[in-house]
Amino acid sequence: MPKQERRRDYSLQWNRKTTLLLSGCLVLLLTCLIICLVHVYGLLNTYRRFVDSSIVGQTQLDAELVSANLDTNIQVIRSTAEQLQQNENYDMDEQQIYKLLVGVRNKSNLDRVVLIMKDGTSYSSERYSTMSGLEELIPSASEDGTVVVAKTYFDFGDGMASYCIMLPVIHRGIIRGYLFGLSSTTGMLDGTDMDTYSQISRSYVINEKGTIMAISNSDVMFVLQNDDFYTDVLKDLSVNEDRDMMEGQLRKSFSEKDAGFLTFNAKDDDWKIYYAPIDDLKGWIYINVVRDSAVNALLRSIKVESFLSILSVILLMLLLCFLVGRFVMSEQHEMLKLAFEDSLTQAPNERYFQTHAAKLLKDYPDIAYRVVSFDIQNFRYLNESYGHMKADDLLRIMVKHVEKELSVRETYARIGADRFVALLVDDGRTGERILHMEERIARSANEEMINYPIKMKCGFYEVSDRKENIAAMIDKANLARKSVPSQGKDLIAIYEDRLMEETRRREFIESKMEMALIAGEFVPYLQPKWDMKNDHIIAAEALVRWKQNTNEIIPPGDFISIFENNGFIEKIDFYMLEQICKYLRRMLDEGREVYPISVNQSRYLLHDPNYTLNVQQILLKYRIPKSLIELELTETVFFQERERMLEVMEELKRMNMDLSIDDFGSGFSSLNLLRDMPFDVLKIDRGFLNETNASETGKFILKKIVEMADGLGVRVICEGVETREQAEMLMEIGCNYAQGYLYSRPISMDEFIEKYNTIQS
Ligand code: C2E
Ligand code: MG
Ligand code: MG
Repeated sequence: MPKQERRRDYSLQWNRKTTLLLSGCLVLLLTCLIICLVHVYGLLNTYRRFVDSSIVGQTQLDAELVSANLDTNIQVIRSTAEQLQQNENYDMDEQQIYKLLVGVRNKSNLDRVVLIMKDGTSYSSERYSTMSGLEELIPSASEDGTVVVAKTYFDFGDGMASYCIMLPVIHRGIIRGYLFGLSSTTGMLDGTDMDTYSQISRSYVINEKGTIMAISNSDVMFVLQNDDFYTDVLKDLSVNEDRDMMEGQLRKSFSEKDAGFLTFNAKDDDWKIYYAPIDDLKGWIYINVVRDSAVNALLRSIKVESFLSILSVILLMLLLCFLVGRFVMSEQHEMLKLAFEDSLTQAPNERYFQTHAAKLLKDYPDIAYRVVSFDIQNFRYLNESYGHMKADDLLRIMVKHVEKELSVRETYARIGADRFVALLVDDGRTGERILHMEERIARSANEEMINYPIKMKCGFYEVSDRKENIAAMIDKANLARKSVPSQGKDLIAIYEDRLMEETRRREFIESKMEMALIAGEFVPYLQPKWDMKNDHIIAAEALVRWKQNTNEIIPPGDFISIFENNGFIEKIDFYMLEQICKYLRRMLDEGREVYPISVNQSRYLLHDPNYTLNVQQILLKYRIPKSLIELELTETVFFQERERMLEVMEELKRMNMDLSIDDFGSGFSSLNLLRDMPFDVLKIDRGFLNETNASETGKFILKKIVEMADGLGVRVICEGVETREQAEMLMEIGCNYAQGYLYSRPISMDEFIEKYNTIQS
């Protein structure tokens, strides 16, 4: 299988809360954006209104200025007229009149001052210039000395129109002539240009008829044809709206004597007409015409600034969201690591495996898979011999090699001390791969100075139903692993349904055991030990039976290993010892013949620090002579355990207890054992006897064992003697004691009492 880089995909466990948090941030961000936009929109509107009212205000100021300009000029003309009127004889010579007019012109901002006498004589501050056109205004002059302000086209050489202030010069009630003050129309607007808006607006002064009296600048696109504001300007605004209606609106607004503005929609732009009445001149209006787009252009910088601010706020918020998101994600990753990784080895844990394996099974429906559960055989002893640090190192080595071995389509987890589970592609080489992995782990362990033989115990479960719960698959692979015999050569097992049956059975037994002990369902059976030469009983072995209510008898083979695994064996062994002591006490009290009884003691008991003390107490409680009790211990392969066993045996020997080694020759029996262990009886295993029957070599070995035991002063008793031939063969090689169906099966205590505990006379 091609190797690809394996990465742990924690996104599988992506937390709903994180998604909620991030979408919350996004919603918040959008809300902020909307609020900002609404705010800016409101701000722009407010500013727009502010601009409108500020232009209206400016227009009013301009109107006042025009009014003031005119007023000054009117005052000048009026006072000049008064000067002329005060001249009693009206005898000023030409020179004096010129001087007066020039003086007036110089003092005022009038461009020209003209006097036209009734007789047609005329005087001008500009002595040699023509004055044509002024006479035409005379008919409109009032008789009572009222000032007339009119428009004229008196040309000052600059081609611009001018306005004229006309006043009759009245002497003794008779009009003597007319005094004219002439000024360019632009002069009327001196100082009125709106500061801010001068570039975008055009100002007009119109009289009550709508005649344009003054216009702010001439280089604009309007071409005045009739001097009539309504005709010329409105036409040139190229409005979409009805011109007459506009005129009506304007006239109406102008007549209201208040400043204000109107908006008109022209085809190329919106236009705004700001207006303010000029106080001193009835019906005169000061007007500012402004393109809306030009005002908008002024707002553009505000818009740009606002949008830039919003943008920077949004960017900052996005950055914040990003940082918060990254922080949350790294926290989340840490949390996921805590939740889905084993802290010692950084290997994924079972929770991760469950999710990831389910995903792989779903993603690769065409690939056959196997779940494999594996551990290191006798890891516990390795832990004890090399210490926890070294054992932890070994686990890390395992993780490293498992990671290397697995492809992207496979996953694994550490599910317990040295227990691992993996989902492997079933390519027919899974066993081989495990062995390779084992080799590599052993090599690395060796480099780390761990010289313990590394053997992996594996249980396989072939995935057939992909919808099956992953936990159930792990359980099955575990069951298969546990079913590997601890001392067998082949350390690989495949799950079978039988294992599940056994598990159920185990669970059933475990659920009943405590109550059964209280209810006295565990009862001792006794099997005689026989002196074959003299053909009589010499002792017996106590063997536990579980008699259920239903009177069904469960043999120890069905539950002893379970009790050894769950520790309940300790209770059973002490219970059995007590039952036997109680029975012996009764026999002694009843004066019956008694035989030493051997009681099986599980290896598990050796780990109880109070074991020997408890044995002593039970014997004391029933006042049983030590010679009547023999303790049967099974040999052990494990060095550590063997040390402890030796310690306990020596202590028991100091207490004068008789000890036997049970099932000798069944497992990894060692002759060292015979040398080191202080025991009195060697019990040859039934299996050893069976094998001996078949071969001469076996018989020879057995003979040598018996001789050796004899030499050590140890009695030898052979278990499982079923036939006479076996008995004869044993006697032939010097073994005179036996236990087996040939002499008696294990029998109930009552039967044993009746048969062998005869009352002594
Ligand atoms: P064990 O201590 O080696 O006991 C001898 C076993 O061999 C007994 O099986 C006995 O019934 C059986 N046996 C004796 N003679 C023959 C024979 O001629 N042919 C055959 N086929 N079998 C024979 P049992 O009673 O089923 O006990 C099995 C094992 O369970 C015992 O082997 C012992 O290891 C364990 N056990 C029994 N009772 C206790 C107990 O109270 N405590 C502990 N820890 N283990 C016990
Ligand atoms: Mg035994
Ligand atoms: Mg035995």
